[in-house]
Amino acid sequence: MDAACQTADRSTDSVRLVAVTKYADWEWVQALSAHHQVFGENRPQQLSERQPLLPDMNWHLIGQLQRNKAKLAVRHASMIHSVDSLRLLERVADVAALEGPPTNVLLQVNVSGEESKSGFTPEELQTLFSQMTARQSVSIRGLMTMAPATDDESLIRSSFAGLRQLRDDLSNSHGHALPELSMGMSGDFEIAIEEGATLVRIGSRLFQGLNRQQA
Ligand SMILES: *Cc1c(COP(=O)(O)O)cnc(C)c1O
Repeated sequence: MDAACQTADRSTDSVRLVAVTKYADWEWVQALSAHHQVFGENRPQQLSERQPLLPDMNWHLIGQLQRNKAKLAVRHASMIHSVDSLRLLERVADVAALEGPPTNVLLQVNVSGEESKSGFTPEELQTLFSQMTARQSVSIRGLMTMAPATDDESLIRSSFAGLRQLRDDLSNSHGHALPELSMGMSGDFEIAIEEGATLVRIGSRLFQGLNRQQA
């Protein structure tokens, strides 16, 4: 990450690592908590079991959220990366209004337009944005995307660049700051950092590193 920041002429503290612990045993999670501040889980159930055991960490929900699990997410996540529909946003907002402080969310965007992928299309987001920012119980902090599953680096880069462009457009046209861009995983985080990521979600690569250190 530091090397990618250097290449991109960005300061290293402008990008945060979300250590994705979805496949990690609890012992590994505990070990990682000595080195990382933000954990990412993709299932609300596992998030709700783990967060109370390490309450000083920031726990982010990064995986798909069903509306009937919104309460778990609101209670246990300091940020939800995966708000991918208006109905889900409304549900999170309703729950958050009863639970306390506003919930930080990112809006997930299907930049590359793959049919199999969830997320708002850029056009939908332009249309729905003011309706969503009107909800006081959610704080929309930025956008999230997953790159297309391809080895073609130029396609990956253009989906990250597309997310940043969309963020800039929304932010300018609605006067709403969107500081966070959650993009980049183990295989493509360097490209994401070059294209402006502020949160990279890294799982498998982290554990390869730990295994090597232990060996
Ligand atoms: C699992 C997951 C990641 C991390 O993937 P790795 O390739 O293991 O780094 C990132 N984002 C989401 C949404 C995930 O589900």
